[in-house]
Amino acid sequence: MSEKKDKINPIDVAMKQVDIAAEKLKLEPGLCEKIKQTKRELIVHFPVKMDDGRVKVFTGYRVQHNMTRGPGKGGIRYHPDVDLDEVRALAMWMTWKAAVVNIPFGGAKGGVQCDPKTMSLQELEKMTRRFTWEIASMIGPDQDIPAPDVYTNPQVMAWIMDTYSMLKGYSVHGVVTGKPLELGGSLGRYEATGKGVFIAALEGTKQRKIRIGGARVVVQGCGNVGGIAAQYFEKAGAKVIAVSDSKGGVYNKKGLNISKVLDCKKKYSCVISEKTKMGDGITNKELLELDCDILVPSALENQITKKNAPKIKAKVIAEGANGPTTPEADRILYESDVFLVPDILANAGGVTVSYFEWVQNLQELLWTEEEISERLTRIMKRSFGEVLNISRKEKVDMRTAALMLGIGRVAEATRLRGIYP
Ligand code: NAD
Repeated sequence: MSEKKDKINPIDVAMKQVDIAAEKLKLEPGLCEKIKQTKRELIVHFPVKMDDGRVKVFTGYRVQHNMTRGPGKGGIRYHPDVDLDEVRALAMWMTWKAAVVNIPFGGAKGGVQCDPKTMSLQELEKMTRRFTWEIASMIGPDQDIPAPDVYTNPQVMAWIMDTYSMLKGYSVHGVVTGKPLELGGSLGRYEATGKGVFIAALEGTKQRKIRIGGARVVVQGCGNVGGIAAQYFEKAGAKVIAVSDSKGGVYNKKGLNISKVLDCKKKYSCVISEKTKMGDGITNKELLELDCDILVPSALENQITKKNAPKIKAKVIAEGANGPTTPEADRILYESDVFLVPDILANAGGVTVSYFEWVQNLQELLWTEEEISERLTRIMKRSFGEVLNISRKEKVDMRTAALMLGIGRVAEATRLRGIYP
């Protein structure tokens, strides 16, 4: 894989990661080939009548990477840069992630190439409903269960659930997770990914003997994952010194008031210093290189590359985003003794509580917030411990260790099932 070209393709990153782990695991070549391939890919082009009467044709994707260990699971992203390779990579990371936390799901992902920031609520609803109809044959509680991702939310999940239910003729709550509570959503799901990132980061700080009280934290991305993780850090007594979103960020070495930052995000759809009025302006590039204890990239892929990795000063990185670090950057960070908790472990709280939501839907049961929180914390800590053990035993970085655990589990399930016919 080369980082020479300006654009780094996420599927190249994902493939390179598999190669590194497969070599360590000494995977049979045929099996390696099988798990690198996506099982099923659907590309749809569909029309939506926009508010001004124009018809706009959108392109959407649903990719099921691997369903050996259970039904496909993975979010739906609305973003102008969504393309097939990105969705393939995100689906593959979902497969490894579900296996790392040992929940019975495979990996899938979806997306629509669009700019939701320029669309009205009505346009978003129409696009969501038509996209759901287009991919309806692929999804369902037993085969593939979408969830929120970048620029999708519980309301979008409600529209998907309603459209799918209309097609079936009865309410199918288990077709998506991350739903509103009123429609079979789970307590604790909205917070789950950010909370899981916090738990993972906390375990990471123990490896570097950093006390969370007063630790300096930098968060890139101020949405579901980054915004909530920042709240957990603040509550634990850490100092969140910088946050950002797509428009830029704010920095204050004394620490920011996260509730106020999030209020600003709600009111003005940004966290820039001119609006938050809590510190100095900072670009996303500068933010990643700030002197801090914990860095939490929670936006998009390919943020830490071989170009900026040598300039990273954080002692611990907890990846809220999927694929924020390239393999070249991984090597540089490992050699600089940065403790990196990789995406497929750090942000696995989301898929874990999605699993709880799905189980509750199938059983028509409701769990309490305490039950969810206790189970999530237990799974995150257990998985962290398992990955750390592999990392120590095999003398590899935490990403390679997590991939070895996840890919190893998928490989073993594949061997046990055998090849049909
Ligand atoms: P979101 O839509 O709630 O928030 C995304 C945030 O990133 C927004 O604040 C946005 O302004 C910001 N952003 C967008 N482009 C940016 C850029 N170029 N630079 C800096 N900030 C930028 O999305 P989310 O659900 O929080 O997802 C964020 C990341 O976490 C994604 O990589 C996603 O795949 C991953 N993730 C999400 C979940 C989940 O449960 N939502 C679970 C696991 C992983």
